Amino acid sequence: MSQEKKYYRKRQNLLAMVSKIKLWPSRKGALHGVREAIPNGAGFQVTTHCGLVFSVRDSANSRASRWLRAKQYAFPCPACRIPEWKMKKYGSTVFSKHMGKTLGSSPE
Ligand SMILES: [Zn+2]
Repeated sequence: MSQEKKYYRKRQNLLAMVSKIKLWPSRKGALHGVREAIPNGAGFQVTTHCGLVFSVRDSANSRASRWLRAKQYAFPCPACRIPEWKMKKYGSTVFSKHMGKTLGSSPE
């Protein structure tokens, strides 16, 4: 049986994407599991399952946005213990310019 593919629009804000996918590609190559992402001013605060807390700017063009869409990471964070189903789901997620759902609050 093949995994159902999920399609998401490529261009959308990072918070909506992180809130949905619940994964965070760090600069050092670790893919973290996201416990929560809370809006704060110009961006939002991310808390990972391994206990990292940091603020990011919400931008569709940021490093994290690009890496998240490109599935660019070196290894899943061992401390986050990302479940296999989540990795599989992420693996079958397609970010497309022309197809798929736009996440976030704005209506289509
Ligand atoms: Zn982690």
